[in-house]
Amino acid sequence: MTRVKGTEYPYQFADFLDFLCEKYHMDRSRLFVEYSSRQPPPLKGTRAGYYEGLLSYREKNGHSEFLITVFKASREPLLTLAHEFAHLVKNLKSGSFDKHLGPPDDTAERTVDNQAIDDLAEFRELGHP
Ligand SMILES: [Zn+2]
Repeated sequence: MTRVKGTEYPYQFADFLDFLCEKYHMDRSRLFVEYSSRQPPPLKGTRAGYYEGLLSYREKNGHSEFLITVFKASREPLLTLAHEFAHLVKNLKSGSFDKHLGPPDDTAERTVDNQAIDDLAEFRELGHP
């Protein structure tokens, strides 16, 4: 994982990221994670609120790079990180990288949320209170 320049991570954020990369065998050289003070975009669709995190990707020199953005506006940055990471794992498995910024799909979002909650619980059980 490469820290985006100038990014200060919140408490335990980097440790949790290490844990997730190891658990899901993520190629860290392709993953960038930023903790951003930018204004988060509003949710698309009918729901009120804003995105607490985003996942994006780009092609560079013939391979894909992934960017997870966690906004400082997120109430639970670790959970938001795990949520976006779960989307990434899912996308890598299915090979599809389009629609995350469409209107939230409730069923898919709940699955991803549950995985994020489990991952964070597992991390805390390892002695990160
Ligand atoms: Zn999501």
